[in-house]
Amino acid sequence: MEKYLSQLNEAQLAPTIQIDGPMIVIAGAGSGKTRVLTYRIAYMMSKGIDPFNILSLTFTNKAAREMKERIASIVGASEAKNLWMGTFHSVFAKILRIEADKIGYPSNFTIYDTQDSDRLIASIIKELNLDKDIYKYKQVRSRISSYKNSLITVRAYFQNPELKEADAMARRPRMGDIYKEYVDRCFKAGAMDFDDLLLKTNELLTRFPDILMKYQNRFRYILVDEYQDTNHSQYLIVRALSDKFQNICVVGDDAQSIYAFRGANISNILNFQNDYDDVKEFRLEQNYRSTKNIVQAANSIIDKNQTKLEKVVWTANDDGGKVKVHRSLTDGDEGRFVASTIWESKMQDQLMNSDFAILYRTNAQSRSIEDALRKRDIPYRIYGGLSFYQRKEIKDVLSYLRLIINPADEEALKRVVNFPPRGIGQTTMDKLIVSANGYKRTIFEVMKHIDKTDVKINSGTKIKLQNFVTLIESFQVMNQTADVFELAEHVTRTTGLIKEFNKDGTPEGVAKMENIEELLNGMKDFVEGQKEIADTTGSLAEFLEDVALATDLDADKGDTDHVALMTIHLAKGLEFPTVFIVGLEEDLFPSAMSMNTRSELEEERRLFYVALTRAEKQAYLTYALSRYRWGKLVDSEPSRFIEEIDEQFLDIITPIEERRINPMLSADIFGDVEPNKIRYKPAKQPVFKKGAVAKKEPEKYIAPTPKNLKPVSKTNDNTNLFDSKLAVGNMVKHIRFGTGEVLKIEGKAGDAKAEIKFQHGGVKKLLLRFAKLEVI
Ligand code: ATP
Ligand code: MG
Repeated sequence: MEKYLSQLNEAQLAPTIQIDGPMIVIAGAGSGKTRVLTYRIAYMMSKGIDPFNILSLTFTNKAAREMKERIASIVGASEAKNLWMGTFHSVFAKILRIEADKIGYPSNFTIYDTQDSDRLIASIIKELNLDKDIYKYKQVRSRISSYKNSLITVRAYFQNPELKEADAMARRPRMGDIYKEYVDRCFKAGAMDFDDLLLKTNELLTRFPDILMKYQNRFRYILVDEYQDTNHSQYLIVRALSDKFQNICVVGDDAQSIYAFRGANISNILNFQNDYDDVKEFRLEQNYRSTKNIVQAANSIIDKNQTKLEKVVWTANDDGGKVKVHRSLTDGDEGRFVASTIWESKMQDQLMNSDFAILYRTNAQSRSIEDALRKRDIPYRIYGGLSFYQRKEIKDVLSYLRLIINPADEEALKRVVNFPPRGIGQTTMDKLIVSANGYKRTIFEVMKHIDKTDVKINSGTKIKLQNFVTLIESFQVMNQTADVFELAEHVTRTTGLIKEFNKDGTPEGVAKMENIEELLNGMKDFVEGQKEIADTTGSLAEFLEDVALATDLDADKGDTDHVALMTIHLAKGLEFPTVFIVGLEEDLFPSAMSMNTRSELEEERRLFYVALTRAEKQAYLTYALSRYRWGKLVDSEPSRFIEEIDEQFLDIITPIEERRINPMLSADIFGDVEPNKIRYKPAKQPVFKKGAVAKKEPEKYIAPTPKNLKPVSKTNDNTNLFDSKLAVGNMVKHIRFGTGEVLKIEGKAGDAKAEIKFQHGGVKKLLLRFAKLEVI
C-alpha cells in the first residue's frame, strides 16, 4: 500500500480508494473530509488516472491551492499542475472563456464584482426614474442574484406572472425592467457578474450537447468539497457533467450548511442518494481537530436542531480546557478581554499571533475588537472587509487595465474616463450613454467615432474624448508585448494616476501610493509565480481573471504573523488553536433577522456549530451586556446558544466587572483603564448614558496591511506593581494555577519575571506585568 495512505484511519481509507461510481461522505466537522478528498486525488493519480480528467471543486481558491500543494508533495509537482481545481466560479470562468463565442460573449469578457454590479444597478434605477429608497440597489442586486441562481432568465421572469406579482407585492413592480436592462447592459459591456459564471455555464451545457459531451469526457472524475453549500445552479452543473460517467464524489456535513441566504440548498446533500444509482455512502466519526471538551460541547448544541442527519462525532484527543464563557459590561470591555487574554496566553504558552482567531456574526463587530488589539500592539488582519482589490485607488488602476482588455467594459470606463480629471464631465457622459443605447454600440465605440454620431458636444470636448481613446489604444499596443507589471507601471505613470495620488501629501494620499506600490509588487510576484505553477506568461488577462475572483482569504500568503478576524461564514473549513466567538447575544447571534422561523434559527445554530468546531485547543464564548449598535448603546441578553451547551463542558470565567474591583486580579490594569476610576456596576445596567454616545468620535478605518502592522513590542512599562513587593519565598495566589511559592525573581521593571512553584500546574515562569498574582 502507498505510504501516504497510512496517514488515514480505516474509515477514511475506504472512500479514499473507492474511485468509480457515485459516492458521498457525510461527516461532522474536523473528521477529515477535506483530507480524504486530497488523498483520494493523489491515489487516483498514482493509479494512472490522468490529472486532466479530474475536476475538483472547493469552497475557496485558497483551499484548492493548499490541496494542490499537498497532492504535489505526494505525486510530484509537474503532474499536479494539470489538475482542474478551484471554486465553481474560477473553474467555470475558464471554461466560459474558451466557449464564450457560443453564447455571444467575447472571450475577453470582464467579470463584474459586486461593486460594479451595484454601481450599474444604481445607475439603471436612476435612468428609469425610480425611487431609490424603494428600489434599494443592494436589495435589487440580491433579488437579481436569486433569479439567476434559480436559473430564472429575463424571459422566464416575464413569462411567470407569480414572480411579477411577488415583486409588485414587495412594492417593486418594475423589478423585471431593471433585471432586463441590467442583463442587456452587462451583455453589451462584455461583462458577466458572479452569478452569470454559473448561469451561463448552465446555458452552455444545456444548449450545446456537443459541448456538454466534451466536458463530460474531459472531467471523468469529479469531486466536490463542502457539498452542503452548493446552490441550485451549481448543483445542476455538477449533475450535468457527471451524468455520463457518474464518477462523482461529494463530501459535506449537513450540520455546516450556512449559506441558505445566498441560495445554498441543503436538500442537495440530503437528496444526493436519489440523484444517482447505487450511491456508496461513507461516514467518518473520529474528529482529529479538537479536544474532547470542544467536540462534545459542539455535539450538544447541534443536537438541538430537528432537521439533521444523525451523526456520531467523537475524538481520541485530550480533554483540553473547558469552553470558557465570559461576560463583559460593554463591547469595549469585550474587546479588551479578548486582547488581554491573547496577550497573556501568548506569553504563558509561547504562542504566535496566528494561533488565534476571533470570529463574529457581522463585520461591524470588528471595530471594538480592533481598537483593543491595537492598544496592545497585537498584529491582526481582518478578512472579508473591503478586499484589497476593491479599494478605490486599486480599482482605478484596475479599471484602466480592464479597459485595455475589454474597452466595452462600461463600469471601468465610467470610473476612469475623467479620473484623473481630463475635462470629460457627467453631462458629456450622459449624452454618450444615451447615444450608445440608441446605436446599440458601446460607449467606447461612440467615443471613438464621435464625428460620425449625432452627439451634440463642442469640438474641444471631442478632442478630449479622442485623446482618451488614443491613450487606451496605445496601452493595447503595449499589452501585446509587455507583462502585466510593466504595463501597469506604465499606465499608472502616463495616465497621471501617480501624480494625482501624490499631489496632496496627506497621510491618506501616502497610504494610497503605498497600496499602488503593493499592487505593483503583487503583479511582479504574479508574473514570476505564474511561470512556476501554470507554465503561462503572466499576462494582463490572466492577472485580471485572478483578481476578479480573488477573495480576501486568497490574498493571504501566510507570510505575516497575525491574529485572524473574520465572520463565521468565512471561517468555514479553517482551523485555529484558539478561537474566540464574540458577541454571543440575542438579536446579534442568533441574528434578529433570523428568528422568525425554526429553519432560520436552525441555520443560525449550524453557524454556531461551525464557529465552535474551528477551535483545536481552546474556545472562548464572549458576550456583552450592552453594545453600540447603529450608533446607539443598547442592552443585550446572552445568546440562547450559550445556555444550550451542556454545562459540563463550560467554564464560566469571572466577569470583568468583578475582576476589576480587585486590581490585583485584573488583567485590565494596563493600558487604557485606571482601576480606581472604575465604578462597579451590577449586571444588566447600562454603563453609559445616551449622551455619551455622541461624544464618541467614530474612528477612521485604516485597513491593516503588513506594512502598517507593527510587530509586538513592549510598550507597557507602567505597571511595575510587584517588583518591590514580591520576594523569594512569598506565597502567592494565581487566578488559574492556585497557590504557589516564589522560587526566583529575575529582570527589572516591566520585564520582571518570577519562577513560581504551584501546587497545581508545577513550576511556571510568569511575567509579572501580566500574571494575576496576589500575595497571601
Ligand atoms: P470541516 O468539516 O471543518 O471542513 P473536515 O472534515 O474537512 O473538517 P479536515 O480539515 O480534513 O476535516 O481535518 C481536520 C484536521 O484533522 C486537519 O488538521 C487534518 O489534517 C487532521 N486529520 C484528519 N484526519 C487525520 C488522521 N487520520 N490523522 C491525523 N490527522 C488527521
Ligand atoms: Mg473540510
